[in-house]
Amino acid sequence: MTAIELETRYSAPNYAPLPVVLTRGEGAFLWDTAGRRYVDMMSAYSAASHGHAHPRILAALTAQAKRLAVPSRAYYSDRLGPFLEELCKLTGLDAALPMNTGAEAVETAIKAARRGGYRVKGIARDRAEIIVANGNFHGRTTTVTSFSTEPDYRDGFGPFTPGFRSVPFGDLAAVERAITRETAAVLVEPIQGEAGVIVPPEGFIAGLRRICDAHGVLLILDEVQSGLGRTGAWFAYEHEGIRPDGVILGKALGGGMLPVSAFVARREVMDVFTPGSHGSTFGGNPLAAAVALEALHVIRDEGLVERSRVLGAHMLERLRAIESPVLKAVRGRGLWAGAEIDPAIASAREACERLLEKGVLSKETHHTVVRLAPPLVIARADLDWALDRFEEVLHELDGTRHRARAA
Ligand SMILES: *Cc1c(COP(=O)(O)O)cnc(C)c1O
Repeated sequence: MTAIELETRYSAPNYAPLPVVLTRGEGAFLWDTAGRRYVDMMSAYSAASHGHAHPRILAALTAQAKRLAVPSRAYYSDRLGPFLEELCKLTGLDAALPMNTGAEAVETAIKAARRGGYRVKGIARDRAEIIVANGNFHGRTTTVTSFSTEPDYRDGFGPFTPGFRSVPFGDLAAVERAITRETAAVLVEPIQGEAGVIVPPEGFIAGLRRICDAHGVLLILDEVQSGLGRTGAWFAYEHEGIRPDGVILGKALGGGMLPVSAFVARREVMDVFTPGSHGSTFGGNPLAAAVALEALHVIRDEGLVERSRVLGAHMLERLRAIESPVLKAVRGRGLWAGAEIDPAIASAREACERLLEKGVLSKETHHTVVRLAPPLVIARADLDWALDRFEEVLHELDGTRHRARAA
């Protein structure tokens, strides 16, 4: 059996991978089993923002793995404190709770918001509500799926967890209307990634801050994908000069090697947790803490935030200069773009398959959007090469349309 046949034979059918079998990665490049090299324009949904096999992170991983990996949080470790301190310094917040996957950190934020709603704000028992945004993506657990507005993500997975109210993304008036005495928090992505890299109107996040302050509601931002340099700032909320009450991090926090996530918040928000009220066997283990701390230091030492800002502006400028009927819109910030393909001409999947044939790895989201989000370490020449291939694909797709008409 080929690798694809084997994986298909034994895997749950919950993914539809592109037909390439990867075996090695280094920096912004990936190689398939035939030795062919690809430019990674996907970065594992930002989990590989540092590039693949980053030497410093790899060294931190192997050194810590030899010393101590998973003793559990029944004991203190010499690795957790420095990691949490760095998270607090970077965010300007006071305390952090480490988990593993992004969805777990979102669950953590929900639990903090609810308990704070009851114990600090005095909301009646089991009545707390959290306002979320249409088109949101916060992970795949059952509670998180409960407030998704995507039929594909929800169908057949009910009954759902109550306590969420969804409003249009970017609509401050709708948020304000949705707030009641029982509202504990507003939870949004500063830029909606999986929805297709949807950038809200300028002032939206600052507006949320004002509304939340006025009503005594927590502002919690899910920066699992947008955080740690992806948008050209350490955190996307910095673009609007505000600080949330809590921020959720993941993906790039693991340096492209491990699942590491965290909920970072103001002391008052975090202190609703008591021993036994929340936890995770693997959360904050020394191996994860050492890798994540090194991942944060690499972003700082290599100027990856600035790279994302400068190269991202270049990428968006190039994409916006493309004149093609296939390309309906380009959205993004930093090294993070969503290119909207006209579904009347081609699917985003077809565009990604053609990119693959040319040596560029991307992935569609929602049938119409090609995401372009390379590792932040990508060289400008490699980025330009990949964007040249993207332009070629658009021209080819336009050509197929003309041929179809002529036939
Ligand atoms: C990917 C993602 C998550 C979920 O992270 P997992 O590690 O897959 O659980 C949560 N929120 C956002 C914004 C994401 O992009």
